[in-house]
Amino acid sequence: MQALELTAIPCLSDNYAWLLRDPATGTVAIVDPGEAEPVEKVLAARGHGLDLILITHHHGDHVAGVAALKAAHGAAVLGPAADSHRLPGLDRGLKDGDRIAVGNATAVVIDTPGHTRGHISFYFAGDALLLCGDTLFSLGCGRLLEGTAEEMYASLRRFAVLPPDTRVACGHEYTLSNGRFALSVDPGNAALKARMAEVEADRAAGVPTLPALLGDEMAANPFLRAPDVATLAKLRAAKDDFR
Ligand code: ZN
Ligand code: FE
Repeated sequence: MQALELTAIPCLSDNYAWLLRDPATGTVAIVDPGEAEPVEKVLAARGHGLDLILITHHHGDHVAGVAALKAAHGAAVLGPAADSHRLPGLDRGLKDGDRIAVGNATAVVIDTPGHTRGHISFYFAGDALLLCGDTLFSLGCGRLLEGTAEEMYASLRRFAVLPPDTRVACGHEYTLSNGRFALSVDPGNAALKARMAEVEADRAAGVPTLPALLGDEMAANPFLRAPDVATLAKLRAAKDDFR
């Protein structure tokens, strides 16, 4: 049963912090606050407090708002145990398979290295919701900054087995540029063309292209569709050079 309220809060130039609220208990969590101010504005407008801060990985554009939000609300900070030495104000380190609660909703932690070594994702099965930071993007995947193509491939395979109606809440609004690359490598893909039409309409209307549906990504995202590590590595290298 889907219960969590989900809101994308734009931060910095193209990040999203994801606001989660369980209406039954009033518990509020923010995922990857790259800035405090836009999050504070939404909380104030809705009259909400903040109970939890969830972190997928250590990059500044995902954690720069953590200290101020924690200080203002006394929220508990949860993030990858592997990055405990480089996460601000971490209260609880998380490992693969750990469970966390946002009110009555429960997420399982999935280790998803590749973009960074310690990257984790949060999967709320009961809410058909995946918060995957910079591992999977709509029509793309994260850069291999610390990890390997092998790791990224394994991480994407962990998403590929989730139900197709899973909503994918990514860390960045990269969908349009990802889609241009995707079309360059898979120009005949009808699902990709359909998704791109939707994405162009969303961006023209100034609304987020996220969350995406995992089933759509399985059909359209070349990185999720890569049959092996070598293909994924080649795609990732080509995307790094794509203009
Ligand atoms: Zn990152
Ligand atoms: Fe990022």
